[in-house]
Amino acid sequence: MVKKKKKSLKRRKRRKKQVRKNYKKIWKLGDKEVGTRPFDIDREGKLVVRQGNYQYKIFDLVKRFGTSLEIIFPFIIEERLNEIHEIFAYYLKQNKYKGKFRFHYPMKVNQNKEFVLPIISEGGHIEVGSANELWLIKRLWEQDQFSSRIRVICNGPKTKRYLSLIEELKGKGLEIIPIIENFLELDYLRGYRGDLGVRVDPDLKIKSHWDKRVDQFGFSFQDLLKIGKIRNLKVLHYHASSQIQRLEDLVGSARLVMKYYIKLKKINPSLDTLDIGGGMPVAYEKKKIFSLESAVKGIVKTLKIQAERAGIPHPNMVVEWGRWVVAPAQITIFKILAEKKINRGVAKKWYFVDGSFMNDLLDTWAIKQRWHAIPINHLHAKTFERVWLAGSSCDSDDKYTAGGSYVRLPKRTEVENGDDLYVAFFDTGAYQDALASNHCLLSNPAQLSADSGLITVTRTRETAEDVGKRFGW
Ligand SMILES: *Cc1c(COP(=O)(O)O)cnc(C)c1O
Repeated sequence: MVKKKKKSLKRRKRRKKQVRKNYKKIWKLGDKEVGTRPFDIDREGKLVVRQGNYQYKIFDLVKRFGTSLEIIFPFIIEERLNEIHEIFAYYLKQNKYKGKFRFHYPMKVNQNKEFVLPIISEGGHIEVGSANELWLIKRLWEQDQFSSRIRVICNGPKTKRYLSLIEELKGKGLEIIPIIENFLELDYLRGYRGDLGVRVDPDLKIKSHWDKRVDQFGFSFQDLLKIGKIRNLKVLHYHASSQIQRLEDLVGSARLVMKYYIKLKKINPSLDTLDIGGGMPVAYEKKKIFSLESAVKGIVKTLKIQAERAGIPHPNMVVEWGRWVVAPAQITIFKILAEKKINRGVAKKWYFVDGSFMNDLLDTWAIKQRWHAIPINHLHAKTFERVWLAGSSCDSDDKYTAGGSYVRLPKRTEVENGDDLYVAFFDTGAYQDALASNHCLLSNPAQLSADSGLITVTRTRETAEDVGKRFGW
């Protein structure tokens, strides 16, 4: 009898474990390929994030710090950058590739200190796009937080202030590489004593939100060849697009620009580096896209083959895959405040949240960004509501409809213990913060960082006074 009982207990335990696994699958958590590996559900049906043996209980943090709330996980940035370094190292070795690899973090993707410092600590280099971003680097440099091995690539319009800051930092011994984007900048920078780069506009059609054939940045290839020799020219740079949808576009743009590189190298023998910019996509919708391995493998191979055919050394390689490294390192959490029936629509209810899509997740509005949105509590729910989420501003555009579809969330009224229901948006670490605004004078979310078991408040919730000040009150 006793034995039998034990057996059934075991079976029940096993079944429970299976059920938990299924919930993980339903909410697409714990899946490395879509970037949710550290995320799990605890016994109470609540979201946890694991860093080794540390764990962060998101619901508890929300109770302590309130919503709307952003939580940064710097360890995710470190893991992802390490993955890039490891995979490049592997394919360089496998292909007997002689050039070096460097990752440069494009600061515009997220300039918060909690994002930039982990990159530097893991051996990443920096790309800046403005004088103000470079000024932050100067601050780090002056505080001795920066090794002189680090390299800084400077894109963006070279204003007087920007140019003098470049000269100043170069003079202090920082390895700083301005990228020339037009004839005016060429005039300014011809006398520069350090390494220089030029940017080319590759004139390619690429499947992404930004599918324009030409953009305003960089020289056309014809113009580039007309310039002739540039002293100290080291880097040929391009940035084809962001969130590139097809592997062939990412590899194909490298293949195309490598042809330019070979021609440019004949005129400028000092040229030794190809900087392929950003573009590696994030699995925002938690559907598998092409893998990092396949991208790296394709790029290394194509550069190697072409360099050898042309009889030139393998170029050093730079990537600036900012979005891929940092987007998954932040989640944004809102509380569901109220609901309202929708009479005509694929969604049946509005859920009103205590934050704003137009203010805090601006790409929802600007580029119709889709997000992975899941509850942080009641993750074991069995009945669901098809909802659209409404932001707190008075603007009818302040909403998230998952691109005219719907978000599947538990029934608000069925949450246990009379708790509120909370929703987390994943992958909000790229671009949203610097684009954030104060429509209807709403406050932006409070912000925490969770690392090595410690929770740090990195931004307190703005008061009415804080926001008012910005408008002269
Ligand atoms: C924006 C930008 C990037 C980052 O692109 P992601 O697609 O986010 O990786 C890289 N390089 C340059 C020059 C950029 O302007």
